[in-house]
Formats: sequence, C-alpha cells, structure tokens
Amino acid sequence: MTSYQPIPLQTLHDNHGRRFTYLRLSITDVCNFRCHYCLPNGYQGDGEPEPLSLEEIQQTVTAFAALGTRKVRITGGEPSLRRDLIEILQVVTATAGIEQLAITTNGYKLPQHIDSWAAAGLSQLNVSIDSLDARVFKAITGHDRLREILSGIERALELELPVKVNAVLLRDQLDQLPQFLAWLRHTPVTLRFIELMQTGSQPDYFKRHHISGDVIRQQLLQQGWQALPRGPHAGPAQEYQHQEYAGRIGLIMPYSPNFCSSCNRLRISAAGKLHLCLFGEQGYDLRHLLHPQHQAELQQRLQQLLQLKASGHDLHQGNSGAIRHFAMIGG
Ligand code: SAM
Ligand code: SF4
Repeated sequence: MTSYQPIPLQTLHDNHGRRFTYLRLSITDVCNFRCHYCLPNGYQGDGEPEPLSLEEIQQTVTAFAALGTRKVRITGGEPSLRRDLIEILQVVTATAGIEQLAITTNGYKLPQHIDSWAAAGLSQLNVSIDSLDARVFKAITGHDRLREILSGIERALELELPVKVNAVLLRDQLDQLPQFLAWLRHTPVTLRFIELMQTGSQPDYFKRHHISGDVIRQQLLQQGWQALPRGPHAGPAQEYQHQEYAGRIGLIMPYSPNFCSSCNRLRISAAGKLHLCLFGEQGYDLRHLLHPQHQAELQQRLQQLLQLKASGHDLHQGNSGAIRHFAMIGG
C-alpha cells in the first residue's frame, strides 16, 4: 500500500504564462564520442552519482505525466550506452498521459538498435550529425561512423519514424550547407541547425566558433525557402520548407530576442535534478522523492519549483549557468 493519491490532471506552468508539456530526461552523462564543442577530451567520469534507476525513471515520468507532460525525450550523454534502454523506453511508453517518446542520440550502432527502439514505443528520432563529409564528421566527433549513422536513419525512415538531424552551427563549417541541401532534396528529415551555445568548460571555443543562425536564414530565404507558421505550443525552432526538397530545415537560435518566450520544456539530469533552464544556476535534487510512497510529494515539489523559473536566460551577459558541458544534462 502507498499513500499516493492521484491529483487532478493539470499542466505545470510558471509565473510568466508558460506551460510545460515536454520533459527532456537524461539517463546517463556518459558518452563515447568526443565532440569538440561538448566533450573534446571525451567523457572523464566527472564523479557524478549513479544515473537514475529504471524505477526512479518510472516515478519521474509518472509525476510529470500527471502534471500535464505529454512528450518525453530521452537524452544524455549517449542514451544508447545504457544497457536497459529498451526497458526505459517501454516504461515511458506505458506511462498514462505520455503521447510522444523521442530520443536524441549520436547514432552509435543505430542500425542495430532502431528496430527494437521502434518496437519499444519510440515515436521520434533525433540524431546529431554535424557534417555529411565523413572526414569532417570524424574530426568533430572522433569517430568514423557517418556511413553507419546514415544507414540507421534510412532504416528509421523505412519504419516511418519522423527523423530530425541536429547539426551544431560552427563558424568554420558554414561551407557544409550545400552538401546538407543536396541530401535534403531527397531525404525527408528535418535538419536543425543549432547555434553553438556557451558552456562553462569552453568559453574560448565559443568565442572562436559561434556564429548566428541568421547567416543560414538569409541563404535559405534567398534560395526560396519559406518559414512555416509556428503553432501555439511550438518549441524554439523556426522551421523552413521548400517545394523542391523532401526535407525541412529548422533554426535554433538561443541568442535571438524572445527565444525564451516559447519555452515549453523542463529537464531532469541523469542524477535526478530538475533544471528549470539549460542555463540555470542550479539543479534541484528530487532523488529522495523518486519512490512510489513520495509520488504526491514529488508532484507538489515540482509545482513549487516551477514558480522559481526565470523569464529568460542570461547568455547575452556571458552567463551560461552551472552547466560545464551539455553531456551533463542532454542539451
Ligand atoms: N549524445 C547525444 C547526441 O549527441 O545527440 C545526446 C546528448 S547531446 C548533449 C544533445 C545535443 O546537444 C546534440 O545535438 C549536440 O549536438 C548538442 N550540443 C552539445 N553541446 C552543444 C553546445 N555547446 N551548443 C549547442 N549544442 C550543443
Ligand atoms: Fe557525446 Fe552528444 Fe556531447 Fe557529442 S554532443 S560528446 S555525442 S553527448
């Protein structure tokens, strides 16, 4: 017997009129890649606590779902490194209220995994590919796996999974656009250029490599791409389409005005901390509440903490918060 009493269905909201229906759940901070902008020296074993167990993940997702979360993204580190990933996907899929289950992965061994992920309930795949040139891809990530990742994407499309590809926009890689466009002409994926964001571990890298997504936007508009209308609960990406292309392009520009006004997401770190913002000063530890007997308390705590959410980040002041790199929390 537990003391848990279901509470009425409602949606997490903050003091700035935003509703939060999307949870980004990190299940590990470990990664096997060495992306220049994230973990240039590889995963160093930062002394982080054990990642959340399957049961703790179940409690987390149950609480968020009861408070209106409809979409969960599994992220990391590299989530495919967790041996119990299939069970995690199944648990999230089985949670009442969850309608969409996505994963963000570097695509490691994707062809071997994708069928079982789809069978476990995955409804959207995001893969990070910063270049379609195998040599550049290897130089950025430390892994010569581009071909394998692309074949995993083909398989996902055969399985009719919507696929988004994340590419971090780097100043010295702007010449990659034509190659990406040629691919998108016949490949029905959404390619999202993400502006490089400053993190605590690499302020100098940011200064050298950051460039505004406006550069891409101007090129797209000149080539006849058209901005798609944004839905009322759309995330931060502005998407573009072109009738001659099977794929779409999205731009994620956190340094642009009003970026935070469309925020609809909350983050849980692999160690069970709630992060109200990717660039917040702290995470709020929930781990002691991730047990069935504390479910009601967990939901109350989440509602209280939401009242602390700031209206926007301080990136323009050079304040990137407590995150040393995105592998800590999943981007
Ligand atoms: N390992 C998985 C992957 O790479 O897709 C999931 C975790 S990774 C931290 C999530 C996303 O964050 C990736 O698309 C990655 O390119 C992006 N990312 C990492 N560091 C970033 C930074 N400093 N600025 C912008 N995006 C970043
Ligand atoms: Fe690993 Fe993803 Fe970070 Fe690359 S971006 S080092 S794949 S966590």
